[in-house]
Amino acid sequence: MKGVGPSRAELLAGELSIRTYRELLQHFPFRYVDRSQFHQIREVRDENTFVQLQAILVEKKEIPQKRGSRLEAYIQDDTGRLKLTWFQGVKWVSNSLVVGQEYLIFGKPARFKGMYSINHPEMQAVEQGKSPLLGELQPVYSSTEKLTRKGLDSKGLEKLIKQVVSEVINEVEENLPQSVIEENKLMSRRQAMYHIHFPKDIDAMKKARYRLKFDELFYLQMALLLNKVARLEKSPGLVFEQVGEKFNIFYEKHLPFDLTGAQKRVLKEIRRDMGSGKQMNRLLQGDVGSGKTIVGLLCMLLAVDNDFQAALMAPTEILANQHFQTLSTLLTGTGVRIAILTGSTSKAERKTLHQALEYGELHFLIGTHALIEDKVKFKNLGLVIIDEQHRFGVAQRAKLWMKNHHPPHILVMTATPIPRTLAMSFYGDLDVSQIDELPPGRKEIKTVLRSDANRLSVFQFMEDEVKKGRQIYVVYPLIEESEFLEAEYKDLMDGFESLSRRFPIPAYQIGIVHGRMKSEDKAYEMLRFAKGETHIMVATTVIEVGVNIPNASVMVIESAERFGLSQLHQLRGRVGRGAEQSFCILMAGHKLSKDAKLRLETMVRTNDGFEIAEVDLQIRGAGDIMGTKQSGDIELKLASLVNDGPVLTRARESAIGIIDEDPKIQKTENRLMIPSLRRVMAKKSFWSKIS
Ligand code: ADP
Ligand code: MG
Repeated sequence: MKGVGPSRAELLAGELSIRTYRELLQHFPFRYVDRSQFHQIREVRDENTFVQLQAILVEKKEIPQKRGSRLEAYIQDDTGRLKLTWFQGVKWVSNSLVVGQEYLIFGKPARFKGMYSINHPEMQAVEQGKSPLLGELQPVYSSTEKLTRKGLDSKGLEKLIKQVVSEVINEVEENLPQSVIEENKLMSRRQAMYHIHFPKDIDAMKKARYRLKFDELFYLQMALLLNKVARLEKSPGLVFEQVGEKFNIFYEKHLPFDLTGAQKRVLKEIRRDMGSGKQMNRLLQGDVGSGKTIVGLLCMLLAVDNDFQAALMAPTEILANQHFQTLSTLLTGTGVRIAILTGSTSKAERKTLHQALEYGELHFLIGTHALIEDKVKFKNLGLVIIDEQHRFGVAQRAKLWMKNHHPPHILVMTATPIPRTLAMSFYGDLDVSQIDELPPGRKEIKTVLRSDANRLSVFQFMEDEVKKGRQIYVVYPLIEESEFLEAEYKDLMDGFESLSRRFPIPAYQIGIVHGRMKSEDKAYEMLRFAKGETHIMVATTVIEVGVNIPNASVMVIESAERFGLSQLHQLRGRVGRGAEQSFCILMAGHKLSKDAKLRLETMVRTNDGFEIAEVDLQIRGAGDIMGTKQSGDIELKLASLVNDGPVLTRARESAIGIIDEDPKIQKTENRLMIPSLRRVMAKKSFWSKIS
């Protein structure tokens, strides 16, 4: 194009990945400067927002500094006086400014010692008797240092984009069906492409941005949903048609409690899915303690009743062990054969286990990631349940599909509440069931924030609870078990010692678990605590998820400010699992960052996992929550999973509407989507994760 020679072309490609007109058109402004409005000096109240003033220059003076000088000038309108400052080009600016002249002044106010000043404003003399040219919303584009050196700063890019827009805007074609446009009151694509760069006014800019965000999210949803359609078609699911003996006998004779209404409903949804002839991919969400395990177990029994094996995968050995114990106990006398496979299973045990699996002698396999190793082969795997791994993305699920000639049904269970926007984007191909009710008799956990100054009373409280027969967790921050830091380890051990002094044996028993211990030692300590032989369990985040010891009713979290919100919520979820009133005591220092304060206040304010998840999303952003690897799959130029939830919801609804009616995109009115669909789906990163 005109204005772009070989060296600029190379830079544009290298710095901004812009090679084509399309890519240049899609280099959207990241903000706008509003030049359509005038402000009065009195209105200058905020830093960091641009203002445009019309005022008379009343004074200017050069003030010598250590090196060179600075220029100060004052402007005045009917409402007040304001300082302007220049630190560079002082001589030149000073010569060009005329005291007594009226100017159009444009810039960003800064506050210094309680006074506002605009540094390096743009100045434009107003000719007498003429009203100044009314401005517009000016786009601001991101650029880089190298580009700026070649004249392609925001202004330079604006020029190029203006040129492309005038050349090709009429070739921008609509890519959404009329029905979607009408339903959502969208601007046309062509108009949006124009107004996002050169908006007529704020309203046009907003509509343009909405439209293009919608596009982005809509096509992402279409891709996910079409993938689901293709998957269901390609691989007919295993049919669990009968509810058999094992399920029924267990349900009637072994179930230790009545299921809650929510558990029953969810179970029904899952059963319908697994009996439908389509492969199930379902997300089971339910807050900590809502009773997901039993639902999982009942589903596994359904698999066995239909002559399939079932596997349950947990993120930690401690949790795998616990599931193994819980299920073994519950299944006593049912004839269901169950085994566990983790990193610490010995070679010899492994061998027997592999054989038993291949010959179909085992019904259930519980384990950690060791489960999905290629060596582990099943005779007839019908159901895989993945517990508490919200980062278990499409790629890992795909690996499980290979475990049988027909892909097994997959149920992902999670308490780590996933904000809705993330669930829709990362699990958009999954169906969702929700347990939105806690088992009866649970009391709301009381959460308080305490500091070192309160330690004695906290100890006293702990003593009182232990005397009532309760058990207590004290958790220390050792966030990455793999990056075991000496200082943190020392904190943990010091804490353990001071607790041991305060709660001496033999009256009190204190246990400890952390990542540096051998697996069997961890298992031993957990078992002692579970049996009630220890009163206080000093631990790291190895107990973060899933651990279920209902008699434990106090959770003390040391240096709570160092934990993330979802971690805190998970940790707190270790208590409040029985009928007793439970407590969570967050111990924190006095000097807290803004985010840390918000995290702790949120914990004190609410027990609602979804509310907590939303705050977490605001603090951390989507990428951090889902892990960088996965969030890389979802590259959004305009839309944000943090702020654009409502747009996403509408886009998803529209996508579902289209696919329900026209799953193969064959209707004439829908065919205009095909080029855009192809582009989204052609993205290698997308398909490699999905198909
Ligand atoms: P999570 O959803 O966090 O995995 P669990 O499955 O570990 O929760 O269940 C938490 C506790 O609640 C367990 O002790 C379990 O036995 C108990 N529980 C589950 N469902 C019910 C129910 N319907 N009635 C009473 N207690 C239940
Ligand atoms: Mg659980």
